Amino acid sequence: MGKDYYKILGVEKGANDADIKRAFRKLAHEHHPDKASGDIEKFKEINEAYQVLGNKEKRQQYDQFGTTFDGQGGMGGGNPFGQGFDFSQGFGGGQNADFDLGDIFGSMFGGGGPAGGGRANRGTDIEVELDISLKEAVFGTSKNISIRKENSCEPCKGTGADKGDSFDQCKSCAGSGRISTTVLGTFRMQTVCPDCKGQGKTIKDKCGNCSATGVTTENVDINVEIPAGIDNGQAIRLAGQGNAGKNGAPAGDLYANIVVVAEKGFERQGFDLISEYDIPFTMAALGSQIEVKTIDGKVKLKIPAGTPSAKKFILKGKGVNRLKSRGRGDQVVIINVDVPTKLSKKQKQLLEELNKELIKDKKSWF
Ligand SMILES: [Zn+2]
Ligand SMILES: [Zn+2]
Repeated sequence: MGKDYYKILGVEKGANDADIKRAFRKLAHEHHPDKASGDIEKFKEINEAYQVLGNKEKRQQYDQFGTTFDGQGGMGGGNPFGQGFDFSQGFGGGQNADFDLGDIFGSMFGGGGPAGGGRANRGTDIEVELDISLKEAVFGTSKNISIRKENSCEPCKGTGADKGDSFDQCKSCAGSGRISTTVLGTFRMQTVCPDCKGQGKTIKDKCGNCSATGVTTENVDINVEIPAGIDNGQAIRLAGQGNAGKNGAPAGDLYANIVVVAEKGFERQGFDLISEYDIPFTMAALGSQIEVKTIDGKVKLKIPAGTPSAKKFILKGKGVNRLKSRGRGDQVVIINVDVPTKLSKKQKQLLEELNKELIKDKKSWF
């Protein structure tokens, strides 16, 4: 039933956030469907695992409930049984007061459960993958996506009946939508009428446009607003933009799973961007100025004389926009001082001369 997300990402159970992120990034890169070595199923699985383990709350929940945690619920959050199970709906009052055991247990154990009440007719969710550049992730963007989905049939208003009003009263339940049954030999309970699925009426003349299904399949363009600061593996939920529900039931949701395409020279850590540059050791000793690529364009970076290797320079506010917050992270430029491994004759001569000077200067070295 459940998947071992730690195993999928190849990390230990006690792995810290940075380890998990690193493992995710490496695998996502490896299996990205755009690559020759890509594997869409594997890629999805990795994304799914990261959505849970990369989120503090969801990871806690997953650790606690282990394999009963349904990955689908990872996006909905807050419910250890996953999206399928919802107490408020399962035991709903008012017009949805009828419920049957099969429905509740079916949901609890991850299945859809047999048809019961209006909720079984809710439209299904749609998931799409959306590639964006690092720059788009930093500043936010809006994208149009084309999907094929089920819409509510217009001529019959989603009822499946001709013009939306050609019905007969249901004979099985005399229009009440419910029937009484005896369960376990003694309990009498009200269950949803299986013939009309609780509608109390049956279709007389079928809608010709949708063959009485109440839905039509169409290509639609949907605009997705992508907030600044979004990260790889995060999903945007567009409520009600999934497949249409049947008989007036609500539509499913649309999930756009964000894939931030890796950009050479940048690595993201939270809201900071990390980049590395190599300079020759002479440049580090003498000081210099180099050109550094930022997401906003090129900037000049002053390297002071005597810069040691692995020195970090912070470019304030050149990182990623903080998601749902203000300001930007920084860009951290790591300068690596390069010591040559091969020297020309002239370089060797010059260095030997320099070496003599340096040793003379500072006798206490050896
Ligand atoms: Zn009925
Ligand atoms: Zn129709």
